[in-house]
Amino acid sequence: MANVENLVIIGSGPAGYTAGIYAARANLSPVLFEGYQSGGLLMLTSEVENFPGFPKGIVGPELMGLFRSQAERFGTRLIAKNVTGVDFRTRPLKILIDKEVVLANCAIISTGASTKWLGIESEKRLLGKGVSSCATCDGAFFKGEKVVVVGGGDSAMEEANFLTKFASQVTIIHRRAALRASKIMQERALKNPKISFVWDSEVEEVLGDDGVKGVKLRHLKTGATQQLDCGGVFIAIGHEPNTAFLRGQLDLDAKGYIVMVKQPTTTTSVPGVFAAGDVQDPLYRQAITAAGSGCQAAIDAERYLESLHG
Ligand code: NAP
Repeated sequence: MANVENLVIIGSGPAGYTAGIYAARANLSPVLFEGYQSGGLLMLTSEVENFPGFPKGIVGPELMGLFRSQAERFGTRLIAKNVTGVDFRTRPLKILIDKEVVLANCAIISTGASTKWLGIESEKRLLGKGVSSCATCDGAFFKGEKVVVVGGGDSAMEEANFLTKFASQVTIIHRRAALRASKIMQERALKNPKISFVWDSEVEEVLGDDGVKGVKLRHLKTGATQQLDCGGVFIAIGHEPNTAFLRGQLDLDAKGYIVMVKQPTTTTSVPGVFAAGDVQDPLYRQAITAAGSGCQAAIDAERYLESLHG
């Protein structure tokens, strides 16, 4: 019989690493597939000010480095490969990495979420040539230039504030006249003299051939269009769960989030498969809530594995 892993954790954000810490300390000898880029969305964040235990704040990649080394310290085996598919109809469960098959008694899915895009042709064409979803990664390229940020949530406010370190002027384009962002983040953006707002508007087209030259905006109430010159466009309109590789294997909701069938546990529609973090959470989406649900998933996995042997 081929080697069967006790527990496979898929995904390496706060949820996955926390599941690794708890599962390893419970002697479940977990293996964690980190993907080719470990650490999840916090790797793209600058300062994290709301993770308890860090009163002075900590930068995202440093925080994830600490999570990772804590998971490793207790014996979680970390593998830098992307899981490409699963077969949950069989026992043991099958985890697929291209043509490689890993067998497992139990799995925790913590693959998080990815950036949402506007979905227009010019955005795709100019991606990496002035269109970006990561101010932390690309902000420094726009020293002294005008940039726009699309979105009205905390991410858009955070990106806009961060970009004022480099850009001469930041314009936030929002599709409504009220922001979704938390009060504190709104106030920071509204008070920043380098930030201005265009309300009730959407980006119809990003202008430019080899690089961004501006955006064409449409006012959603009047239909009027206007052109705004800028050298960069940052998209910050939220995220989508990373569940494409799970389609048909367990229950997902209309937006692709994993359905939790026995709340408050982390149980999915497949026995022995648990889910934690943003991949199952359209509501809170915080590093701390992801970490908390990673802990819950490891405890659920431990109880499930015990029930198999009992
Ligand atoms: P979000 O809260 O879902 O906000 C997305 C924003 O983009 C909304 O304003 C939305 O408009 C707009 N939008 C969505 N689809 C759009 C489209 N197709 N075209 C134009 N605009 C579109 O997402 P988020 O800002 O990424 O935040 C996600 C979670 O992370 C939140 O819980 C947030 O609190 C948290 N977060 C926290 C921090 C922090 O505390 N430092 C930083 C970043 C994120 P509508 O308002 O009209 O829906």
